[in-house]
This record gives sequence, structure tokens and C-alpha cells, in this order.
Amino acid sequence: MTEATGIVGEFLSLKEETEADLLAMQCGDFYEFFAEDAEIVADELELKVSQKSSHGSSYPMAGVPVDDLTPYLKALVERGYRVAVADQYETDSGHAREIVRVVTPGTLLETSDADAQYLAAIVADSSARGDDPAYGLAFADVTTGRFLVAEAEDADETLTELYRFDPVEVLPGPEVRADDDLLGLVRERLEVTLTLHETEAFAPKRASHAVREQFGERVDRLGVGEPAVAAAGAVLDYVEETGAGVLASMTRIQAHRGDDHVTLDATTQRNLELTETMQGEREGSLFATIDHTATSAGGRLLKEWLQRPRRSLEVLERRQESVAALSTAALARDEIQETLGEAYDLARLASKASHGSADARDLVAVRETLAVLPAVADAVAANPDLADSPLAEILERPDRDAARDLRAELEDAIAEEPPSTVTQGELFRYGYDAELDEVIERHEEVREWLEGLADREKRQHGLSHVTVDRNKTDGYYIQVGKSAADGVPDHYEQIKTLKNSKRFTTAELEEKEREMLRLEERRGDLEYELFEELREDVAARAELLQDVGRALATLDVLASLATHAAENRWVNPALHGGDRLEIEQGRHPVVEQTTEFVPNDVRLDEDRGFLVVTGPNMSGKSTYMRQVAAIVLLAQIGSFVPAKEAEIGLVDGIFTRVGALDELAQGRSTFMVEMSELSNILHTATEESLVILDEVGRGTATYDGISIAWAATEYLHNEVRAKTLFATHYHELTGLAEKLPRVANVHVAADERDGDVTFLRTVRDGPTDRSYGIHVADLAGVPDPVVDRSRDVLERLREEKAIEAKGGTSSEPVQTVFDVSSGQFRGPANADGGERPAGGDDPEPSLDPETERVLEDLESVDVNETSPVELLSTVREWQRRLEE
Ligand code: ADP
Ligand code: MG
Repeated sequence: MTEATGIVGEFLSLKEETEADLLAMQCGDFYEFFAEDAEIVADELELKVSQKSSHGSSYPMAGVPVDDLTPYLKALVERGYRVAVADQYETDSGHAREIVRVVTPGTLLETSDADAQYLAAIVADSSARGDDPAYGLAFADVTTGRFLVAEAEDADETLTELYRFDPVEVLPGPEVRADDDLLGLVRERLEVTLTLHETEAFAPKRASHAVREQFGERVDRLGVGEPAVAAAGAVLDYVEETGAGVLASMTRIQAHRGDDHVTLDATTQRNLELTETMQGEREGSLFATIDHTATSAGGRLLKEWLQRPRRSLEVLERRQESVAALSTAALARDEIQETLGEAYDLARLASKASHGSADARDLVAVRETLAVLPAVADAVAANPDLADSPLAEILERPDRDAARDLRAELEDAIAEEPPSTVTQGELFRYGYDAELDEVIERHEEVREWLEGLADREKRQHGLSHVTVDRNKTDGYYIQVGKSAADGVPDHYEQIKTLKNSKRFTTAELEEKEREMLRLEERRGDLEYELFEELREDVAARAELLQDVGRALATLDVLASLATHAAENRWVNPALHGGDRLEIEQGRHPVVEQTTEFVPNDVRLDEDRGFLVVTGPNMSGKSTYMRQVAAIVLLAQIGSFVPAKEAEIGLVDGIFTRVGALDELAQGRSTFMVEMSELSNILHTATEESLVILDEVGRGTATYDGISIAWAATEYLHNEVRAKTLFATHYHELTGLAEKLPRVANVHVAADERDGDVTFLRTVRDGPTDRSYGIHVADLAGVPDPVVDRSRDVLERLREEKAIEAKGGTSSEPVQTVFDVSSGQFRGPANADGGERPAGGDDPEPSLDPETERVLEDLESVDVNETSPVELLSTVREWQRRLEE
């Protein structure tokens, strides 16, 4: 390409300056994208591309009108692009352009999504030793001003925290950039834009300075290490550099402490379908099912609670008290929810005010939402049960006096229904500002004078067909119809002749016109000035608005939990710090919405900490285990739970793992991933954790699978001692109940009569005797002959009998033996040796002596007395002998 000059050259050199993916450059009334950018934008947004010739070369060009930029920016940023915006400004020698803002997924203010929108930074400290956290993280939501820091010991924990906050943009620190494993996982697991922000911003000194500047002394009390502070500093630097202009709304820094929260690793959050289903749908997630919030801030907070369940008995019991009170006070709850429906998103409004993009209607929204606080507080106070609950205190948390003052200020200032654009006038109430009132009064007088002018002229000068109007070229004029135009008085000065009329002006009219223009300008300026002042006032109270917003959102979430509990007959679980987990007639919170659900009990305690769950395919094992996890999780956000009665020992983490085979169906996982996640669970889970293993080990060959499942069970039981539910199709595992004191068997019952299975969906103590896979094949419509034949084959396999392969090409039946030790079918021994067994009902194939010995060995092994590892090596040995 030849060196571009002119406007395209300017575009390309501005593009060099920025790290952004795209550049929108103002050219008069349009923002233009050139060259490659034009093609990308046109593709993404279905814009038309034209050709711009510049000094002999031609470049693609796509543009959007200046006033329409925002929706296009939003659309591009939501697709993951970072877009730089260059504005045009006047200079002495014409005009120049400059990049004023880079809009990125993590700094987009104009989001239409109610979800939190986190920008994150990760800093690794490779010199960290021992218990020192090796990773520091910071999370900022520019749309609400939330700012948190967190620490993680290793890459897994880092991923867990990232998954919990689900950021849209991540700034990896210098060391993290070299960590391909971590970055690979971040890319794979999160829908996120990775941005390489300048490394100096991560430098500890500079970062710590920036953090102090922003948050003051509070930083010292956070108790986080250098990596977290560096991450926070980098985030602040980036927000500033992109020109988002919302630093003022970031009033507070908080430390997110893993210890206060239930650990939910990334896989668990996905498996439990907290905020979206495995298929990525919102509908059908736990969140969508229990969400009855009336405000978007409430919905956001409920999601946050689900992603960050708590461990403190005190915190949870306080939430429970409020939910309990609200669940019985149906009328008051309805009233509160209706009032909350009038609330707007205060945290978002505070950010808009800080950014300078809030308009008069936004300030009205602030005013109306501030009025919601005393209204719901009154409703709470009026109901004795609610008044006694912690709700009253929650609503007292924000500075109520300051909130009332701000509301009064806004009420005195802003008109009842102001226009949306700031420059349209009529923003303020009379009496708010004396000068403005005077200008408005005078303005009105002149306007009235002008309005009455036509009539006055008619009367005074006996004219007919007189109108007074204004346009751009003539200004104000008196228009007189042709018939009367000759009779106008002398002081009329003609300015234009039209077909049927003439236009005049007078000295007086010209003077009024000048005054009118002066007043209009003054009024506009004054209103704008006053508005900016007011908006700054509101921005200065960002922290107050965030507090009020938080209190209302909390009330909203608690009322939502109460509503769901009342509508679905959930109960308040008794929480305690012990080992006991007892759920009577529990249900799955999501499945119960769409199915006639069969409730089930679960009982775990000190002497019974590990349940092996067996049962036919499709009987309900997975549902049962997920239901237990969901109930514990709901209990640890302070919610009621779907059960008749529940006693729940608080857990410090919930870990789930679904066998690779089940996950493979969704194209997500490999056996390697299954094992690394199992490894993570074995490393991270503690005695206080809840572990759910669903068909783990299934992703590999049978003997491998059993051995791993067996060994993992022993380890979880003996070493980790976590509360565990393990659904398995390996019947061998049910034998563990006899060997390990805290292991018990339960099974999902099915009724088998005349070869037909009815799923009862009832969980009972004890193991099942076998798998019902063939029955499922039957249910699925596999042809009868195949089903019958497979029953036959199964029968023979059980008895270790030879099977005749049907339909072989040879006229004589081909005999095949299933070799239990190798898990393979073999042809008959000496296939060509003529020593063919006589056809009979139960042919006994003759075997070579070594095989016979192996079979004898096999028979003599006591599976229950052999460790999995021994078993495995014995099997290998047999295989070797057989091969020889
Ligand atoms: P498994 O893991 O044993 O193969 P699932 O848990 O996947 O079985 O359940 C199979 C089907 O049975 C699912 O469609 C589920 O909705 C339904 N189901 C499971 N448990 C129950 C129950 N307790 N009541 C009603 N339906 C259930
Ligand atoms: Mg299952």
C-alpha cells in the first residue's frame, strides 16, 4: 500500500497511537472508519462501505452520524472490540483531531444489560512463598462504581474468582502474560476480551500510589498484599486512560475474601447451572427460577449472592430472619415490591452523574428513587413482624438525612417533567435560582409582547391579514397580506416581497428581537450551568446513592426470596456449624417447576459422610445429587429451601464433577480435564466441603475407571473426609460400604416386573443390584429382537458363558467367548485346528492352558480384599500373560 496522506493518512497515524482495535474519527457531522476498520465495522453492523479516494489511492470508508455514534459503539464493544473515538476540534488553522476516549468492554458506560460489568486485572507474584498469595486480582464495574480486590493462592483459585465475577475484560499483568496455561483457561472458560495494558501501570510503586490517591487510607485496612494492590492500580490507570471519566464514582474499595465465601470452582458454578444452563441459556438456570426481584439492581445482587454464598452463620441467620418475616407478611411484601418497582438503578445513575452523561430525567430518576427509601421504610415499620426483623436496620444503613436533603434539593430544582436534553430549557422549577427566574420572566414578557404584536398592529393601524413570525434568514417579521400591504404605517420597513404578502420590520421589533436572542442565550447558558452544578452535586454524593441503592437492592432480594419461598412452599432450614446434613422430602428447585417431582430425603452425619448412589440409568441419580448441592447453596445465601424440613451444617465449599462421558456429549470435556478437576477437588476440598461426583471415572476404560473411582473414594473418605455423594455405575463400589466405616449405599429405586421397569424416583438405603441399561434401550425404541438378544448376551456374560455370534457368514455358528479379564471378545480357541466343539446348548470352549490358569486366578481373587492399585497391576499381569 502506498503511504496514505490526507484524511486517511491522518486516520492511520491516529490508529498507530492507540491499542484499540478500531478507530472512529470525526469528520464534520460523521464519525468515519477507514480502510480495514471500515470493512470490519461494515461486516459487524451491516453498514454500507463506500470508497474514499485520497491522493490517487482509494480506501474503504464507513460512517455513522455524530449523534448516532453511541448505539454503534455499544454494539461493537459488546462484540468484544475496543473502539477509539477521535473528536474533531477547531484550531487557528482549521481543525485537528485527537483521540478522546477508548471504549472497551470493561469501560462501556452505555450498557443496556442489568448485569454487573466487571473489568478485571490479574497480577502474579512469582516470588510468593508458602502461604503468601501468588495472585492478586482487582474487579471494577464502571457502571456502578463497585471496586473489589481479591487474592488467590494458585491459578485454579484465580480462575475460580474470575468465574465468580465473570468479567468482560481482563488486564493480565506482566507475569501473567507469559502464563499460557492460565490465559488459555481464561480464554476457554470466560467470554472475555484480554487487553495488554502498559506494564508500567502494574508496577507496585506506581499502582500503590494510584490506589491511595483514589481510596485514601482505607487501602491499608484491607489487608491485601502487593499483587492485589498492583492489580487495583492497573485497573484505575486503565479506566483513567480510556477516558471513561467515572473514577469519581469509585468511592470505595472492598476486599473480597475467599474465607467468607463458599468456594465454588468454575466447573461447579457451571454444573449447578447457577446463572445459565449448560446450554448457555438464562431460562432454566437457578437464578432465573428464583428471581422475583422488582429492580435491576436487585437482580444483580441476587446473582451476586448466588455466585458468592456465605459461610458466616450470623450473616445467614440475619438474612433468614428477614426472609421469614417477609414470607408471612404477604400484603406488606406486595406493597414493598410495588414501591420498589418505582426505583431506578441508583449505582448506575451515580456513575452517569460522575461521567457527566446524566440528563435531567436521570436526576428525576434519582429523586424518585430517593423517595422510595422512606416509603419502603414506612411499610416495614407499619408491620410488627417486619419492624422486628433486621430489615429495619438494613434500611437505616444509608444516611437517611443526607438522602432526604438530596431529594429535597432535587425536588426544589428540577421541574416535574423536564425534557431529556439539557439544552432544551424548562429544566428548573420557579424559585430555584433568582437570576434564572428573572431571565425567564423577562423572556416570557418579550415572548408575550411578540405574541400580542399582530393583534396590536391590526387594531392600531387598521390592518387585516397580519401575522408575526420568525425564520432563520429574516428573523422576526410582520407579515401583511397583499391587499393591506400598501396601507402599512411609515415606520414599517419592508424586508421582503412574497407572492401574496409583504414582510416588514420596525425599530421596536428589531430591538425586541435582539433582546429575545440575548435572553434565549442567557437562559440556555444559565440552565446548563445550573444543571452542571446540580449534576456535580449529585455526583459528589455517589457514595450515598450507592448506599441507598444497596439497601433497596438488599430489600428487593430478600423480598424475592420470600416470594419464591411462599409460592413454592419452601422451608427455612436450620443452620449449624456441625457435620449433619438432613433434608426431609427435598426437591430440586428447578426441576420441581416443570415436573411432578418425587421428594427425597438425604441424611449425612459424622458416621455417615459418604453416600454411594446407585440406580438404573435415568432413574434420577444426577438430579438427586444436584438437588442436595442446590439446597445447601440456597441455604448459604440465606434462602429458604425446597424441602419439608432441613437441617444444614454449613459447608466451606461445594465441588462437583460430572464424568467426562456425560460431559463429552456436550463437546466440552476430555478425560484429561476430568482428571485434572478431580485432582483439584482432592487437593482443595476439606472436611467441611460438600463433594458431588457424578459418574467420575467413566471417561476411560472400565478397569481404569473403577480403580480411579475406588481410590478417589478411599482418599475422600480417609484423608479429605468431605461430605460426599458419588453416583456411579460401577457396582463394585457399593462393596466399599462394608469396608469403610463412613460410606453408606443409597439407590434410586426402580420397580421391575415382567421385564418392565418403572422409575419410582425414590431414594432408599442400600445398593441396587444392577444397571438397567437394556431397559433404557428398550424405552428408546431399539427394536425388540436387539433388546431381547442383549438380555440374552448379558445373561451369558454374567454366567461367563460362550456366546454364539448370530448371522455369521459361515454355515456353522461362530462361537465367541467374552474374556472377562481382557474385557474383549475372542473367537473360539484353535479356530482352524478342527477341534470345534459340538454344537450344544451350552458349548464349553476349550482354552489353552495359560488362559485356563489366568481364569482360575481371576476366580480366586477377592475383590473386596484387594486394593485398586493391586487389582490394576494384577489385571495388567493377566493381560500380559494372555497376550503371550
Ligand atoms: P440418572 O442420573 O440416574 O441417569 P437423572 O438424574 O438424569 O438420572 O434423571 C433422569 C430424569 O428423571 C430427568 O429427566 C429428571 O428430570 C427426572 N427426575 C429425576 N429425579 C426425579 C424426581 N425425584 N422426581 C421427578 N422426576 C425426576
Ligand atoms: Mg446421571
